[in-house]
Amino acid sequence: MNIILLGAPGAGKGTQASRISRRFGMPHISTGDIFRANIKNQTEIGLLAKSYIDKGQLVPDDVTCKIVENRLQEEDCKNGFLLDGFPRTVNQAEALERFTHIDVVVNIDIDFALLTARLCGRRVCKECGETYHVSTLNGKTNCEKCNGELHQRADDNPETVQKRLDVYLAQTAPLIKYYTEKGVIKNFTGTDEPPEVLFQQIEKVLEEYR
Ligand code: ADP
Ligand code: ZN
Repeated sequence: MNIILLGAPGAGKGTQASRISRRFGMPHISTGDIFRANIKNQTEIGLLAKSYIDKGQLVPDDVTCKIVENRLQEEDCKNGFLLDGFPRTVNQAEALERFTHIDVVVNIDIDFALLTARLCGRRVCKECGETYHVSTLNGKTNCEKCNGELHQRADDNPETVQKRLDVYLAQTAPLIKYYTEKGVIKNFTGTDEPPEVLFQQIEKVLEEYR
């Protein structure tokens, strides 16, 4: 089962992706995570990616597509994978088609009014990547799961968030039409309810693809 997770920044892709990958036992491939790991390790790709990510822009397609193509060739992707944050442009989607086949696209649709507050209040565990919102932390600064330190992503500030949402509308949202026309999209509505509620709906649909 080869899956794509589609949705605006802050729609809850990351949270759903970890659940889906745990439930169905497939690797969770997040291009954002790959870029952040490269930035942390100060690689050449990291240096390049940082200059775009800090501005809320997309990393160029050629770089991003090559990373994904290489990653999908690894052994653990043989029986399926879950792409989170890729493709993000129609050009990336076309490139992806040249090196693999996609069974289903899970699209998380969400009220845009929720997103800015969600993203700007988001805190991420430095160790395990779990995400929280400041409004529920009651001043806690460490992760409930692993006690790692929580931090705010550099691109989760109001100015960059606005830019990311604009980029989503202009460059990523057209993928909804693209995959609808291919007949592979499943639409879900993300809400302010607990992520479990949405996960159960996604799980039910994905079970039919196994
Ligand atoms: P979010 O979905 O919350 O914006 P991600 O972690 O998926 O966060 O992405 C963070 C940033 O990494 C993006 O704003 C963009 O700059 C870069 N990025 C991630 N995936 C891609 C992609 N497929 N193509 C180009 N840039 C990407
Ligand atoms: Zn943690």
